[in-house]
Amino acid sequence: MTLISLKGVSKSYVMGPTRLAALKQIDLTIESGEFVAIMGASGSGKSTLLHILGLLDVPETGIYQLGDDNISTLSDEALADLRNQKLGFVFQQFHLLSGINALDNVQMPRVYSLRGGDDKNDAIAKLTAVGLKDRVHHLPNELSGGERQRVAIARALINDPILVLADEPTGNLDTKSEEEIMAILESLNAEGITIVMVTHEMEIAARAKRIITMRDGNILSDVVKSKSVKKSPQIVSPPTPIKTMFVAQIWEDIRQAFRSIGVNKTRSFLSMLGIFIGVGAVITMLALGTGATNAIKKDLSTLGSNLLIVRSGASHNQGVSMGVGSGTELSILDSARLQKLPTVKTVSAIVSGRAQVVNGNKNWNTQVQGVEPSYANIHYESIPQGRFFNADENSQRERVAIIGLTVATQLFGTESPLGRTIKINRNSFRVIGLLPAKGFSMGRDGDDQIIIPIHTAMYRLLGSDHIGSLEVEIKSEDLLAISKTTITNTLKKAYRIPADNEDFLDIRDLSEIQKAIKSTVGTMSALLGAVAAISLIVGGIGIMNIMLVSVAERTREIGIRKALGATKKSIQSQFLVEAIILTLLGGILGIILGEGISQILKLFTGWPMQIGLNSVIVATVFPTLIGLFFGYYPARQAARLNTIDALRYE
Ligand code: ADP
Ligand code: MG
Repeated sequence: MTLISLKGVSKSYVMGPTRLAALKQIDLTIESGEFVAIMGASGSGKSTLLHILGLLDVPETGIYQLGDDNISTLSDEALADLRNQKLGFVFQQFHLLSGINALDNVQMPRVYSLRGGDDKNDAIAKLTAVGLKDRVHHLPNELSGGERQRVAIARALINDPILVLADEPTGNLDTKSEEEIMAILESLNAEGITIVMVTHEMEIAARAKRIITMRDGNILSDVVKSKSVKKSPQIVSPPTPIKTMFVAQIWEDIRQAFRSIGVNKTRSFLSMLGIFIGVGAVITMLALGTGATNAIKKDLSTLGSNLLIVRSGASHNQGVSMGVGSGTELSILDSARLQKLPTVKTVSAIVSGRAQVVNGNKNWNTQVQGVEPSYANIHYESIPQGRFFNADENSQRERVAIIGLTVATQLFGTESPLGRTIKINRNSFRVIGLLPAKGFSMGRDGDDQIIIPIHTAMYRLLGSDHIGSLEVEIKSEDLLAISKTTITNTLKKAYRIPADNEDFLDIRDLSEIQKAIKSTVGTMSALLGAVAAISLIVGGIGIMNIMLVSVAERTREIGIRKALGATKKSIQSQFLVEAIILTLLGGILGIILGEGISQILKLFTGWPMQIGLNSVIVATVFPTLIGLFFGYYPARQAARLNTIDALRYE
């Protein structure tokens, strides 16, 4: 049965201005079961012929019939499949993949084939057949030349080919290895496998049953020395798609990606930096957003949205006294003035300052707030231990204090502070209550404070006759706007301030404070967003760059894979998967970075920052898209490489 039939096949290479004919109108027929040696001087076209026979290259003119197929009618996929299923290659340079052991090298063609079966045991069987049973786990660089070539033969045999093509298989070997390889080829031929072998050594060629001699792209002579044993030609068992090729290949792609990342750890890490920072910024941005929202919600639920904070415009206009405004300070009498207004529910005047507090040898610096008894109604549902001060204690300027948890711990440790005496700026105060725990809020420890009667604070502690601010609780939220106007008018009248003076008072409601926080958070988010966008783009370009380097470095590997049956698609998917794994690893590190930054921000703001599910999705989806987008071009470059050129690449 005719296995190979060439009619008028030619091939030429363009070299600068001239065209060099490597094969000139070759006619050749090879029967199934033959053992053919192709001889000839260097440059006579032997390899070119072998590449065409092996479907690694296509003829320029003429017809190549392999078995039942006219190969010019076949697609890239079909050719790759034929290489994978029916052909086996043995090269002078062995062409093993260096990073993986003999077993994995031999199994490699199975990645690109639909055949079911036990890849590992099949590979071990083939390695045993070439006498390498105890070299299964050796890397190529741990094997001698002869052993490497035997691994290559085992690989060529893994899918039970009908045709083995060998290009100078013993060219790099010593005499003993040469003998071993030839013995293997002879025994394969004896089993019925057709062998076409290029060699320039007469003794090697003499082992074949037919010798074809070439010169300058022509067949010079064709001598049949001995008849082939007529064995029934090997039938390729039809593919049994037990495993799906897709899953097997993606799995192999992932393994390969981790191998190549593992080989270039530093380089891979550096190429991930952009994605790492970008994803970190995105995660922080999301955590900050939810943190701020939750903080605002929490404040709203504790303080209510009906609270107005009234300050004199002189000292508090935008935090800076600009010399505008009346210079009028508010007094304790204003509290009573505002309490009379119909829309007002509760008012408390407030003064505050920092003070040194002492219990025995324990010292603490904290914020002291002088307030009216009504303050408790605005802020506290109840006092967990002890009580708040009453109106009498306030007007009598009694030295009583309600202290926060942090102060209590600092001054008394685990002991109960109730009924104990502390010194605030050298004045003795009796502790009558413990404030409800508030935790951190807006970057401040809400429990690091002491509340005392405002009269005590003003006349005994601060020696001041004006107050800092007024907290005014309005009866309902929709009365806020009108209340602001009536408060302003009332106080202007009291102080005889002209009606057109805009700067006399500074009245804020909580929604304004929240607006300010939101806008700050918005600015920070926008900044982080910009950092993220730039980092991700730059990171993507970094990935693309490193993938291009990787493709260039692994050109030979790509050639080998294609020779073993990889299609363009499978090469493309291999490099895409590698790009995505790189970006995903960057994303995972980015989550850790984002979590770290969020925890630090949490310390400063006290906001409940959390890395939510959305962040994890972002950290997976974004890098995948970036890997796909920026990996596409390098992967396509890899897929488009010409197999022969890739194999020859030094
Ligand atoms: P052999 O294997 O017999 O030594 P080849 O088949 O490799 O010879 O090459 C035949 C001729 O074609 C040589 O002259 C070689 O220089 C030329 N040739 C082979 N491949 C290429 C190529 N990719 N580009 C240009 N010329 C080539
Ligand atoms: Mg050659």
